[in-house]
Amino acid sequence: MNPNESSRLVVVSNRLPIVLEKSGSGHVVKSGTGGLVRALTPVLSHRGGVWIGWLGYGEDEVADLKEALGEGSRSVGYDFEPVHLSRQEVVGFYLGYSNSIVWPLFHDLLGYCSFDPDYWYTYLHVNRKYARAVHETTRSGDYVWVQDYQLIHLGAYLRQVDEKRKIGFFLHIPFPPLDIFVRLPWRAQILRALLAYDLLGFQTWRDRRNFLTCLQQLLPEVRITGKGTVVRAEAGDRTVSIGTFPIGIDYRSFASASGGEDVRARETELRSRFGDCKIVLGIDRLDYTKGLPERLQAYKNALERYPDLHRKVILLQVVVPSREEVPEYGSLKGRVESLVGSINGKFGTPGWVPIQYHYRSIPQPELIALYRLAKMAFVTPLKDGMNLVAKEYCACNPGHGTLVLSEFAGAAAQLQRGAMLVNPYDIEGMADTLHAAVMRPDDECRVRMRKLKENIRKQDIFWWVDRYLRAAFDRALGDFPGQEEYLPRMSLQGPNRE
Ligand code: UDP
Repeated sequence: MNPNESSRLVVVSNRLPIVLEKSGSGHVVKSGTGGLVRALTPVLSHRGGVWIGWLGYGEDEVADLKEALGEGSRSVGYDFEPVHLSRQEVVGFYLGYSNSIVWPLFHDLLGYCSFDPDYWYTYLHVNRKYARAVHETTRSGDYVWVQDYQLIHLGAYLRQVDEKRKIGFFLHIPFPPLDIFVRLPWRAQILRALLAYDLLGFQTWRDRRNFLTCLQQLLPEVRITGKGTVVRAEAGDRTVSIGTFPIGIDYRSFASASGGEDVRARETELRSRFGDCKIVLGIDRLDYTKGLPERLQAYKNALERYPDLHRKVILLQVVVPSREEVPEYGSLKGRVESLVGSINGKFGTPGWVPIQYHYRSIPQPELIALYRLAKMAFVTPLKDGMNLVAKEYCACNPGHGTLVLSEFAGAAAQLQRGAMLVNPYDIEGMADTLHAAVMRPDDECRVRMRKLKENIRKQDIFWWVDRYLRAAFDRALGDFPGQEEYLPRMSLQGPNRE
C-alpha cells in the first residue's frame, strides 16, 4: 500500500536484517531471509525507505563497510543505516537491560530478572543514540516504525527534537499483566515512553488488555476511548492509537518450498532412517521461555504411562544456540542435555533412541522436511509473543500432523480451533495430549490442518504489514476471525487425576 507518496518508511530495529560475508579482499552484504524482511522489502523499496539498526559484533574490523552497505542497499532497493555500539553499550543495553530485565519480566519470569540500575542508564543512552541516528538520516515527513522491546524510548527521544514526527511501535513479545509489570523499577517511565508513539501495536488481545490495565491503574489521567481492533488513549494533548496485529509468516513461500524436490528428497531419506516411528518435533531457540525442561518431563511421563508409545515414537528436538553470553542460557543447556541423557538412558533399547537431540541451527530445506515428516509439533512455550514455528509447521505439513500448542503462546488465539492446546506447566496433561495426538488417525488430522492452513494463509506476514500501515494512516480496518482473546478452558483432565 502507498498512502502517501512523499513519506518514506523508516524501520528501526535493534539489529539490521543483514549479514556481512567476506568476499575476496572485501565484504558483501546479504539481506536477511526472515518473513519480516521479505514482507517489508517491497514496501521499503516501493515507498523508498531506510532500515536502521545495529550491525552486530565486529563492524570496526570491516574497512569497506560503507561500500558493502551501499552495494547491499542498491540490490534490495532501500538503504541500510548502521548504529555502532561499543562493547560496554552492548553489555548494558542488550545483554543487560533488554535480555536480563525486559525479556524475562515481559514473559512473566521474574526470577530471571536482574534489575541493575546501570543497565537502565545504558539503555536510555543507547535509545538516545538510535533516536539521533533516525533524526540525522531521515526527513520529518517519513513514517518511523520502531520494532520491539529494546527500543521503547526511541519515540520519546525523537519527539524531543521533532515533535510532529509520525512514529509507530510494535511489540513482538508479550506485554505482562499488571502485577508483574509493577515490579519494574522504571514502570512509569516505560508507560510514558510508549505514549510518545502515534500507534502502538500488540500481538494479541491479551497483551493489549494487559497494557490498557497498566495504563488505567498507573496513569489514571489517561482516558481510553473506542473499542474494536484499534482503541485510543488520550494523554494530555496527545492521542495514541492502540491496536492488535498478530504477526504472520510468508505462507506461500513456505507452502511452495514444502513441495520442492530437495525438501521431498530429504523427507524420504529421513523417513527411511526413522522407519515406522512417528516423529514428535520440537524446534526452539535455547531460551527459558520455551518450556524445554517441562516438555522433556512430559515426554518422559508419556513414556512411563503409555507403553504403547515405546519404539513407536521419537522426539526430535532441535535446539538453536542463542544468547550464549547470558549465563542463564548456559545452565539451561546443561539441564536440557541432562534430561535428554536420562530419558534416553532409561527408556532406550537397541534400535530405538527415544529422543534425537540436535544443538545447532539447521538449514531451511532440512527444517521444512522435518515439518513435513512430523506427526506432531510439540510447541509448548511457557509464554511467547506469537511463535512462528507453530505457523510454519502447519504451512508445510501435508496434513497428517497435529499441532500441540501452549495456551500461553500468542498463536493460541488464532489457532485455538485447529490445534490441541496444552498448559505447559501441566506435565501429565501434556503427556496425555501427546499420546492422543500421536494416535489420532490421519484423516481426522487433515480436517483440522486444513482449517489451520486457511487461517495462516489469510493472516500472513503481508496481511500484518498492510494492517499495521493502514492503522498508522487512519484507514479503516475490518475485524478478523480469530482476533478474540483466547481464554483457557477447563477441559484438560488426565485419566488418573482425581
Ligand atoms: N529457525 C531458524 N533456524 C533453525 C530453526 C528455526 O532460523 O535452525 C527459525 C524458524 O523457522 C522460525 C524462527 O527461527 O522462523 C523462530 O521463531 P519463533 O517465533 O518460533 O521463536 P523466537 O525464536 O522468535 O522466539
